[in-house]
Amino acid sequence: MSKVFYLTPEPAGADAAAGNRASEVVASGQGAYTGTVEGPVLDARRRPLHDLRISVTDRCNFRCTYCMPREVFGADYEFMPHASLLSFEEITRVASVAVQLGVRKIRLTGGEPLLRKDIQKLVAMLAALRAPDGQPIDLTLTTNGTLLARKAQALKDAGLRRVTVSLDALDDTLFERMSDSRVSVSTVLAGIEEAGRVGLAPVKVNMVVRKGLNDQQIVPMATHFRHSGHVLRFIEYMDVGSTNGWNLQEVLTGAAILERIGEHYQLEPVKSQYRGEVAGRYRYVDGAGEIGLITSVSQPFCGDCTRARLSPEGKLFMCLFANMGHDIRELLRNGGTDQQLAHRMAGIWQVRNDNYSEQRGKETTQRQKIEMSYIGG
Ligand code: SAM
Ligand code: SF4
Ligand code: SF4
Repeated sequence: MSKVFYLTPEPAGADAAAGNRASEVVASGQGAYTGTVEGPVLDARRRPLHDLRISVTDRCNFRCTYCMPREVFGADYEFMPHASLLSFEEITRVASVAVQLGVRKIRLTGGEPLLRKDIQKLVAMLAALRAPDGQPIDLTLTTNGTLLARKAQALKDAGLRRVTVSLDALDDTLFERMSDSRVSVSTVLAGIEEAGRVGLAPVKVNMVVRKGLNDQQIVPMATHFRHSGHVLRFIEYMDVGSTNGWNLQEVLTGAAILERIGEHYQLEPVKSQYRGEVAGRYRYVDGAGEIGLITSVSQPFCGDCTRARLSPEGKLFMCLFANMGHDIRELLRNGGTDQQLAHRMAGIWQVRNDNYSEQRGKETTQRQKIEMSYIGG
């Protein structure tokens, strides 16, 4: 696909010569085709579409209490049947259109993405995508790390650039409690090391902090990953989904986390590299490396949110806290052209107005929301 057209309320051809100016028009859902998309499509808050997070499965081998509590995701929980999942070809088609609309960064997630059979084949297909200027897409993946030691080399060979690995504690008992699994910390650490060794680097390590549960692991985790070349990122516990019984009292703010580390090691801020970077970055003054803080509760970053999310069965979500998605599988499976797909996706993005974290309050946390294990981080 070389050119993408999308719907605007403008008369046909009016802006064709103006190139990206067409992307400034908010889609009305009806109208004529105008102009090619040469730059990112903007949403109603003028945020460009830059990132696509693709959840490839709603299944996971962990039952992290903050994400998939076993009381809800137990033995009788019905996960999506395989036939309803997008195939690798379908995912790649959506991704390819998204790239034409401005996406330059793709993250595979889940559920646990490494549970999806032959995931390296999807990685290879996505790694072959090129932006209109010929540049490859920044392709990454978030995993709980259990299968990473085994799969890192194949993922790297397929074209994956980097990985993010979730690890909430170094203490085995606490880790088992957080993940509600029998997997040992050493398995995840081996996955992190192997990812670094094969060049999926720098490896980012995500630690969700729940006050009173694993906050005593902040400093040991910081100490462990100093001088490792890996970037440890602390994530404020969020009210995603409707099953984890989230409570503001359990949130330890990024500022408090920074203070705790600061009692042991001197840190200084690092300038963010690009618009939409989710983590606030800090480096150890003594040169031991970097950490990140993802403060979506205490310091929301909706103003720079450039992420769209694709669910395993082909729904597009415009916000992590949304309660409804936009079905695009029907179009994919019923003969829709790339051009129609582009219209649909651009139209959805252009009317996007989400800023959940900026509105967060008692009322919003009680809303029905999609689960993190379904849409990914
Ligand atoms: N299973 C993979 C993993 O855990 O890395 C990928 C999917 S998981 C949903 C993506 C990220 O979301 C993980 O880093 C996880 O820690 C984070 N996450 C899940 N629930 C969360 C919550 N309630 N608050 C903050 N982060 C959460
Ligand atoms: Fe699974 Fe990741 Fe959710 Fe934990 S955070 S239950 S590893 S999807
Ligand atoms: Fe983006 Fe929604 Fe998170 Fe705000 S709350 S940063 S709009 S995903």
